[in-house]
Amino acid sequence: MVADASKEETIRSVAKGIIYAVLGVVGLMILLAVALPNYINPPITGSPRGVPRIACINNLRQIDAAKEEWAIQTHAPSNAVPTWEDIRPYLQLGGTNGVIPKCAEGGLYTIGALTDAPTCSTKGHALQ
Ligand SMILES: [Zn+2]
Repeated sequence: MVADASKEETIRSVAKGIIYAVLGVVGLMILLAVALPNYINPPITGSPRGVPRIACINNLRQIDAAKEEWAIQTHAPSNAVPTWEDIRPYLQLGGTNGVIPKCAEGGLYTIGALTDAPTCSTKGHALQ
């Protein structure tokens, strides 16, 4: 009977080991299922810098559109470099006409020539 009790204990400890192993694998799978899609395709809005970056890129788009509109209206040559005052009438943000947008992360905008896209001095803030 002593041998049987010892055997039972061994079986119990093996079973415990298997349960822990299965729980470990399940836990790892859950972790991978949650983390892997974010790793492969990180959500832009989920990253802490995502929202100001998107807002900034939207600003750059507005500036670019204002540049184009200014060029059309004034028949400016393609190498022309408009100023903020030039494009101010063509900027329409948040329903307030002529508001010059600001980068949420303190970047400085450069309008640039008509042939170039406007830029922000903050790294990663750029029109594609
Ligand atoms: Zn920016």
